[in-house]
Amino acid sequence: MSEKHRIIVIGSGPAGDTAALYTARAGLKPLVLAGFGAGGPPGGQLMLTTEIENFPGFPNGGISGPELMARMRQQAIDFGAEFRDVDVTKVDFRKPPFKIWVDDTELIAEAVIISTGARSRLLGIDGEEKLIARGLHTCATCDGAFYRNKKMIVIGGGDTAMEEASFLTRFGDVNLVHRREEFRASKTMLERAKKNPKITWTLNEQPLEYLKRDNGTVCGIKSKNTKTGKVTDIKSDGVFLAIGHIPNTDLFKGQLKMHDNGYLVTGAAAGGPHEHPNTYTSVEGVFAAGDVQDHTYRQAITAAGTGCMAAIDAERWLAARE
Ligand code: NDP
Repeated sequence: MSEKHRIIVIGSGPAGDTAALYTARAGLKPLVLAGFGAGGPPGGQLMLTTEIENFPGFPNGGISGPELMARMRQQAIDFGAEFRDVDVTKVDFRKPPFKIWVDDTELIAEAVIISTGARSRLLGIDGEEKLIARGLHTCATCDGAFYRNKKMIVIGGGDTAMEEASFLTRFGDVNLVHRREEFRASKTMLERAKKNPKITWTLNEQPLEYLKRDNGTVCGIKSKNTKTGKVTDIKSDGVFLAIGHIPNTDLFKGQLKMHDNGYLVTGAAAGGPHEHPNTYTSVEGVFAAGDVQDHTYRQAITAAGTGCMAAIDAERWLAARE
């Protein structure tokens, strides 16, 4: 026996929770499968941050990431959304109604909203995830302001590293650590960063482990020179990783159109019916919102915004089929 639902939301960051709120208020009784299937916590990347000062509506110091996600979830539940903290293991989007499995349980949905997000690429050092927001950060826009007049390390040599390093110099001095002498970053962004007197460059260095204070927070990296093999301690007040993001799209490979970098294609480029921005994927009836389809903005507020769009797109699509 499979459970039938009008709409299933996969993933429960700001995009999924907002989609749940809107579809719940539209009377669609959404089921939210809140795990990511990627090892991330229900609630997404905001569960890994501390204070969020840039989500509108929370003056006087902002709100903690986990508290914001708890409130978003509760608000959706208040209007009839059901949340299950489980990971989706398989999907079949070949034709509606769509099939979704959580281990052996088969769920059927007339429409689906995907909001599985993306995760920051980590160095792969043991215990690294536990250090996030404890001196180790993955988002300069989110956490840079905690480092006013402090020293920061940014790791990476791509556009994100250049952008984040430049942004962080509003607060303090940046030491950009990259494992090569050549950069993946575009010429313009690299040149802009090179002109910035508050950025110093430590090249040919591969981080080996994090340096920690007595209280366990990160205060630099132990790093190996890729040319000489020499190991040194590079100290700082905090470390920002900018070595790329990985969209949580493994589940959808071969079923939905993706960009070369693995992010879902949405809107007209996916074959969506409208020219204006929308959340249609390459399969009609499957919509996508949040970081899983956005490698540019990656903010909680933009994820919430596209979650709202996906809910409205899905609701209208379902109504047109009645
Ligand atoms: P990239 O994949 O372009 O760069 C990742 C960087 O991290 C590389 O320099 C890579 O080194 C380094 N790296 C990866 N793994 C490790 C590791 N284990 N240890 C040490 N270093 C590592 O990712 P970005 O996030 O920078 O960019 C992703 C996409 O988004 C790009 O297409 C970029 O152009 C785009 N973007 C555009 C922006 C804009 O135009 N405003 C802003 C930000 C991103 P190596 O080079 O040696 O492989």
